[in-house]
Amino acid sequence: MERVVIVGAGLYGLIAAKTYLQIVGAYHDENTGKRTDEIAEIPVCFTESNDAPQKNSSESRLLVIDSASDIGGTWAEERLYPNLLSQNSYGLYEFSDLPLSDVVPGEHADDTHNQFILGWKINCYLRAWVEKWQLKKHIRLNWKVNDISRLETKEWKLKISVSTSTSPIQCITIICDKLVLATGLTSVPNMPETKGSSTASDNPAPVIHAKDVGEWARKHLGYRPLKAPESEVVRIPAKESPYPQLRSVAVYGGAKSSFDLVHFFATLHRNDPKLHLKSTQESPIQVHWIIRNRGVGPAWMVPPMSILPNGETVASDKAASTRLITHLTPCCYEIPKRLSIGPSGSLHWKGSWLARLFHGNPVGRWWISWLWRSIDKGLEDTAQYGSDPKMEKLRPENSIVSCASGIGIANQANLWETIRLPHVNVYRSAITDIVATVPGKTTDSSAKASVHLSDSNSIDEVDLVIHATGYKPIVPIRFEPASLRLELGLSALVDSRGKGVRENREIPAGTPERIDGPLESTIKDRIQHWEDLDRRSEVMVRKTLNATRCAFTDRSPPSWAESHKLVPYRLFRRMVAPELVAQGDRSFATLGVILSSTIAVVAEVQALWVAVFLTGGLDSPLEIKPNPNHALSLKNLSSVDIENAISEDVVLGSLTGTGLEVEAIQYNDMLLRDLGLNPHRLGGGFYTELTGVYGPSVYAGIVDEWKKKSQSLAVKTT
Ligand SMILES: Cc1cc2nc3c(=O)[nH]c(=O)nc-3n(C[C@H](O)[C@H](O)[C@H](O)COP(=O)(O)OP(=O)(O)OC[C@H]3O[C@@H](n4cnc5c(N)ncnc54)[C@H](O)[C@@H]3O)c2cc1C
Repeated sequence: MERVVIVGAGLYGLIAAKTYLQIVGAYHDENTGKRTDEIAEIPVCFTESNDAPQKNSSESRLLVIDSASDIGGTWAEERLYPNLLSQNSYGLYEFSDLPLSDVVPGEHADDTHNQFILGWKINCYLRAWVEKWQLKKHIRLNWKVNDISRLETKEWKLKISVSTSTSPIQCITIICDKLVLATGLTSVPNMPETKGSSTASDNPAPVIHAKDVGEWARKHLGYRPLKAPESEVVRIPAKESPYPQLRSVAVYGGAKSSFDLVHFFATLHRNDPKLHLKSTQESPIQVHWIIRNRGVGPAWMVPPMSILPNGETVASDKAASTRLITHLTPCCYEIPKRLSIGPSGSLHWKGSWLARLFHGNPVGRWWISWLWRSIDKGLEDTAQYGSDPKMEKLRPENSIVSCASGIGIANQANLWETIRLPHVNVYRSAITDIVATVPGKTTDSSAKASVHLSDSNSIDEVDLVIHATGYKPIVPIRFEPASLRLELGLSALVDSRGKGVRENREIPAGTPERIDGPLESTIKDRIQHWEDLDRRSEVMVRKTLNATRCAFTDRSPPSWAESHKLVPYRLFRRMVAPELVAQGDRSFATLGVILSSTIAVVAEVQALWVAVFLTGGLDSPLEIKPNPNHALSLKNLSSVDIENAISEDVVLGSLTGTGLEVEAIQYNDMLLRDLGLNPHRLGGGFYTELTGVYGPSVYAGIVDEWKKKSQSLAVKTT
């Protein structure tokens, strides 16, 4: 087995590891994942270049590396915070071979499948799943990959810093044959530019990013993420408590995470034992919720439960995980069914009947528009934005169906009632400055902040400022040379004016994703080549979107990229680098460069596609003409076809404003077709397929299905 390194032990990295081991036949028992071998901390084979092929053994040849001190990425123990609640209900965030409810049952056994999953339960689940597949010995925690380059031998070289609590940071180098990046889209916090939030002074303002709320809560609230079955929490009375009493907290941002944090602090004085806190708060905390006037604005918050067309009431994430919802979106990227003239002059049917029904005629379009207007209206009635000036500030600007809107599920208990509480204050302004202040009248001596807003208001004596301002969806690793980042199809920020390193407060020099000018000609040519291609794709994409009268969304670049040119990800199927594929190189892939409301639905299918790709399974020995109904054969796909597919994906994301979002089920359909597997998996007729819920369990058995299929193909070709 070749030496494989997977960077990232989150949801994607873990499933990629297990699937790869399955595909190369490393498990003795496919159902229990039983293996017997042990692995050295730094296996020797990963330290030497030109590693001679060894015995035909899978032993010690796969490493999963993560900079965190726990597995799980977003759900790692260090990133859990007290009210972290998945937007997914039971059955929609798990792997297909192990139901989450078997590991961490829901609170009310009679209605588990409609409950949303607590963050710490996902952590426990992933630990149990890692145990099941005996992955622990492959995982190296506290290993941070700083730098990646390629040797002439085509091996990958990774420079890594290893940290432990007991010894100084150690730098090591790892060499491997295959490299998989699963570093996630939420690893790099997006900190807004404010003048005074410097942490360099002796008494810095108490400012953190939402990513660090868990760590802050451990220190200041006695939060014990995994250790507190409710009855065992020993609460310390406020008077004897080493934990501070909070008076005032500011939350900056309008997305779902800001709703969660506002809810958390606004209800903290209720001292709910489910939060796993040792501290108690005696009085309500003033919550100052600041949302910019420009930008995406406040998110729409969908009720936790929705009704399916068959009348069943289910958790809203389940309703969103049906094929039907895709067809109801006004921005449908499908041609309505019509007769068209083929290259040979013959007439044939083209496009989709559902697109014709819903989007390809005025009545259908009127109905779709009425449907979404009434959904907006229903949500407005639930939130009661018009009930007072404070709530009015939370009214989203665009329809829920517009890509310019953020969306979340209102799954925190009594969300709207909580926001209406008098100690929750809402501001529509930008933070310009955060200044550390000497503690005032209050008794505790911890640092406080004054938060200055662009409308000249200021909020004083704030105990904590949290930037719930999202993440930069980039790979936080430096590539050597810098052009390698683009060669691998990864997103980058380039200094488009080519004036060399400029001072920029938001994007400090040395930030891995930043490529500074003057740009090498290879980089310039590569960018120019894609831009030319995009211009041609745009004509085609606009034509398809116009067929269903889709409205375009003009989404401005994210604030963190404003001063540079943001080069988008250019990955075929969102996973592999076109240049390497064209060279026949099957040694690199990425996972998780995707946004969707149901990530776990995609992870397993992507992991299989990548494992098959890396082991040459997409290089069919048969001459197959590119055809959407045939399994993919990369050898028979021209680099022009690959580049066109990528460009179309990028242009579609940019014109519609969907960016990295995908319709999970349709995306999986494409990958399963590539693998020669059946994408329609509900086992019923048309109506079941259209309205049935596609959860992860629907994809159970795909690895075995693929193995069987490839074995029968091997028999046919011999
Ligand atoms: C607060 C929050 C709530 C969310 N809730 C939901 C939800 O309810 N439903 C849903 O579908 N999605 C949700 N998401 C999205 C969530 O991130 C994905 O569901 C999923 O966990 C992504 O998995 P991943 O493996 O791609 O990335 P991650 O979970 O981010 O894992 C990436 C890993 O890569 C590691 N890494 C990064 N850089 C390096 C490096 N240089 N060296 C070594 N290791 C590195 C990181 O430490 C991390 O462990 C949420 C995200 C956040 C932040």
